[in-house]
Amino acid sequence: MSEPPRYKRVLLKVSGEALMGDRAYGLDVTTVKAIAQDIKGVVDLGVEVALVIGGGNIFRGIAGAATGMDRAQADYMGMLATVMNALGMQSALEKIGVQTRVQSAIEMSSICEPYIRRRAMRHMEKGRVVIFAAGTGNPFFTTDTAAALRAAEMGCQALLKGTQVDGVYDSDPRKNPDASRYTTLSYLEMLSRDLAVMDAAAISVARENHLPIIVFNIHEPGAFTAVIRGEGRFTTVT
Ligand code: UDP
Repeated sequence: MSEPPRYKRVLLKVSGEALMGDRAYGLDVTTVKAIAQDIKGVVDLGVEVALVIGGGNIFRGIAGAATGMDRAQADYMGMLATVMNALGMQSALEKIGVQTRVQSAIEMSSICEPYIRRRAMRHMEKGRVVIFAAGTGNPFFTTDTAAALRAAEMGCQALLKGTQVDGVYDSDPRKNPDASRYTTLSYLEMLSRDLAVMDAAAISVARENHLPIIVFNIHEPGAFTAVIRGEGRFTTVT
């Protein structure tokens, strides 16, 4: 028999790249649908779910800056990319009957709600998936930091980071066949070993708020649901 959910409220961070599938850019519908289905599985367990989606599949501020663009301006473009992804995920979730709200850190009142913490809490209590778009609303930050921040604000019990691999490794498992996966890891080890899973600002926010970070492979079907039950492969950072 499957284990009951370990958490009542969680935030899932999905990078923009995770939505690309085999494409070089943008959204792959099949991949987005599969992730939406996994999220539905968790919602159906009665767990309250918030989402933060990155924008790297469309635009990254740092890449814009590398071409000579003003960094802050490029970061705003990156934040707008996250809104597109949020709307794409909202559509996929609603198609399979999951109620959602998108709240943006940059006001765009004709397409989504502005970020209002107490309203977001209320949505979650009603079982709606709240998708936080536009990152923190500030340039020079990442959506990882936005995810840690929103998870802390919402009183989430865990921050789940869905990646391309099933946890945190001591070296890149896609390049080194001898790489080994950590089952558990401390925030400080993650920072000091410079394990490129989350940026330092995000780890600091999680650490200060005693928010466990759980890293798992978002591409394994049902992996999000399994992790919520404490099953499958993942790394817990505390
Ligand atoms: N961004 C930002 N402030 C934030 C969050 C994101 O300026 O609070 C911009 C930044 O340019 C970043 C882009 O949005 O490169 C996309 O976000 P991110 O790189 O975190 O996406 P991911 O790597 O998760 O797909």
